[in-house]
Formats: sequence, C-alpha cells, structure tokens
Amino acid sequence: MQTHFSPEQLAQSGIQVADKILRACVHCGFCTATCPTYVLLGDELDSPRGRIYLIKDMLEGGKPASEEVATHVDRCLSCLSCMTTCPSGVHYMHLVDMARARIEETYKRPLADRLLRRALAEILPRPALFRWALRAARLARPLAKPVERLLPQRIRAMLDLVPAREERGSPNAQPQIIPAEGARRKRVALMVGCAQQVLAPSIDDAAIRLLTRHGCEVVVAQGAGCCGSLVHHLGMTEQSHAQARANVAAWSRQIEGAGLDAIVITASGCGTTVKDYGFMLRDDAAFAERAARVASLARDVTEFMAELGLKAAVPHAPLKLAYHSACSMEHGQKLHKPPRDLLAAAGFELREIPEGHLCCGSAGTYNMLQPELARGLLAQKAANIDSTGADAVATGNIGCIAQLAQGTARPVVHTVELLDWATGGPKPKALAGLARAAGPS
Ligand code: SF4
Ligand code: SF4
Repeated sequence: MQTHFSPEQLAQSGIQVADKILRACVHCGFCTATCPTYVLLGDELDSPRGRIYLIKDMLEGGKPASEEVATHVDRCLSCLSCMTTCPSGVHYMHLVDMARARIEETYKRPLADRLLRRALAEILPRPALFRWALRAARLARPLAKPVERLLPQRIRAMLDLVPAREERGSPNAQPQIIPAEGARRKRVALMVGCAQQVLAPSIDDAAIRLLTRHGCEVVVAQGAGCCGSLVHHLGMTEQSHAQARANVAAWSRQIEGAGLDAIVITASGCGTTVKDYGFMLRDDAAFAERAARVASLARDVTEFMAELGLKAAVPHAPLKLAYHSACSMEHGQKLHKPPRDLLAAAGFELREIPEGHLCCGSAGTYNMLQPELARGLLAQKAANIDSTGADAVATGNIGCIAQLAQGTARPVVHTVELLDWATGGPKPKALAGLARAAGPS
C-alpha cells in the first residue's frame, strides 16, 4: 500500500512504525475471512483491511479521530486473528494500538462512555478496589433484577460477569520467594497481575505448586502488578506505560540481583503485552534496554513448562477436554502446540473446537464495552464447544474463563490447574461436580 506521510510526520517514531506496517499491506483481503467482527457484521469497515484504511487516512491527514474511526476501531477485538492469516506480515497489533491511543487523545466520547472507560481503567488493575467493586455489584444485583430490562446493556453485561461468590485472596499473591522442591533447577518470577488474583486465585496457587514441584524457585516480585494491557487497549498510553515501567523496574531488580531464568505468566492476554514491553518502551531511554530484557524473559506458563519438561502424570480418570486457545495465546503469542502437547502428555483427551480461531468475545474489557457483539461471539463459541461432547473446557486466559462460563454449562478450567492436578496437585475446584473427573483429589 502506498503511503503519503510528510518528512515531518516521518520524523516521529510512531509514524515511522505505522508507515512500515501500512506499506506491508497489499490489500489482498485474506484477513477478512478470519476476522470475527467481519464474519458477524459483514461490513468492510469492520474488517482488518477496512480498519487499516481508516487508520491510514486518520494518520496521514494528521486528523483527530472521527466518530466513524472510533466506532469501527472500538469494534475491533484486538484478537489478532488477522495477523495469523496475513501473508504479508502486517503488524496490525501495533497499528491498532496506535489508533486507539490517537482516538483517546483526540476524540470526545459521550459522557457515559468516558465515565465507564475511566471507571474500568481505575478499578480493574487494582485488586483491592476491584474486590470492593465486585462486592458492591453482588449486593446491587438482586436489587437490579426487577428492572434488569430497563438497564443499559453495558451495565447488564457487567452485572452478568460478576461471580456469584467471592474468592478468598491467596497469600501467594504477596511479594515473597517460594523455594523449589528438591534441587533448584530454575529461578523464575511469577506475574500475579491484577484481576485474575481476585477472580481466580487458584490459578496462581496451582502455578506455584507446579513450578516448585518441577524444581523452580518462584519469586513474586515486590512492585510488580497489572501488565498494563487493560488500559493499553483503551488507548490510555500514559497509564499503560506507567504500569509497564513499574513491572520492568520490579523484575529488573530480580534479574540484576539473584537473577531470573524466566518471567512466568498465567494469563495469555498479559503475556502478549509483557512480550511487547520492548516495543512499548522503545523510546524511553531510561527503560528501553531493561524493557527489552524483561520481554525476552517473558514466558506463558505452558511455554515454560514445555521447555522444562513435565513430570510423569499421576493416573487419573479419563477426561475429555475441549481446548479453547485464547486469541492472545494462539495469535498474540503463537503458542499453538505447548498447551495442547502438555495436556495430552498429562493424560487428557483433547477435542478441537470447530472455528477455534474465532474469539469468544472476552477480549479484555470488550465484553463490557461491546456487549452485543461479545454475546454473538460467545453464542457461536458455546455452540462449537458443545458440539465437541467434551466433559470440560481448558484454556489459559482468565478473561476467556469468565466469558465462557457464561455460555457453556461445562466447567471451564485453567490449563495450569489441570497440569498441577495431573502431576500431584489437588483436583481443580471447577471439576468438583464432574463424576468422570474422579481422579486424584
Ligand atoms: S484484531 Fe481481530 S477483530 Fe480486530 S481486525 Fe484483526 S481479526 Fe478483526
Ligand atoms: S491479509 Fe494482510 S496484506 Fe492482505 S489485506 Fe489483510 S492485512 Fe493487508
């Protein structure tokens, strides 16, 4: 694709990146077939190619974002399915991130929209605040029930996502060093992040058991927190970069101290962002080098365990699993084989989900901001999961777990809880009601 940026525009690092991405696109349109929003809506402007044209026009013209640009970019899930399909290697992720930041800077959203986005940006990355918000929502839900149909869709979507009961916080989320069982083979940092430790603390509890059982000393680093992706995808660059810098500083202290072999992440959405820290902070002289080093050490827990090698599985009852590959796992990190191979090696029978490349509609805050589209995607995903006849669903991203739990009656379990169970840990709580999963408890 030809571009027409001026020399002044090309002096800006962001525009240089955009120019390179845009020039790589040959308008072939292969990406449209695998774009969930194009599949649902059938509008070229809701396809990757259409969005690329809109973004090009906005950036080249040096224009503020229009309502049209905001509408179609907001509908993008950042699922990155288009990047897997694109034969020309167009880095759509960096382009759409840039567009989101430009929209945030230059487009004035309606007041309700601004308030909601601000509330999500302030609450979700802070575990204590998020816990209180969930308590308040739990209290409000029965009161809202009689007038449910009168509530705005986004409020209903948020209330639907609130788990019925509160999970007790895990002491494992606190900064500490957990020794390896037996001889130490590796020293790793575990990212405990933000929303996941409130919604499902059992995931990192399982990760710690799995890692230490395999000879890893696990560090939960002081000062590390949210990866920044929640606000990054809202276009709030200053906030996302501040969160990225805090993590880079926290993990760099460990790298420069006793050293780290890896930074292990149990939410693939966060992993995609941490692996991009080198790019995000490339123009920050004080952080660029450390950010690139942190990014190079980031590993999804399944990627790391595949490198380390899984211990022999403890015999357990046969369990058929539909493996849902989160978009951030499949397209963002291109980790197709490691989770599947590990689950198979651990003795589970895997069932592929038809149209597995299509997003479940979770996508960070997407299911709250675009509830109608998210519900459409969830309905398709749930039908495809049900068609596998599996006993349960395995996946590696907390957002997908929360989303899928609304669409399917099958238990949805994090991959790491299954791997922990299969190598000597407790049976995942989500499987408690499943008679077939009567293996070691
Ligand atoms: S990221 Fe996903 S929703 Fe967005 S354009 Fe690409 S395929 Fe479509
Ligand atoms: S597949 Fe790649 S090159 Fe083709 S239109 Fe889509 S982004 Fe452009």
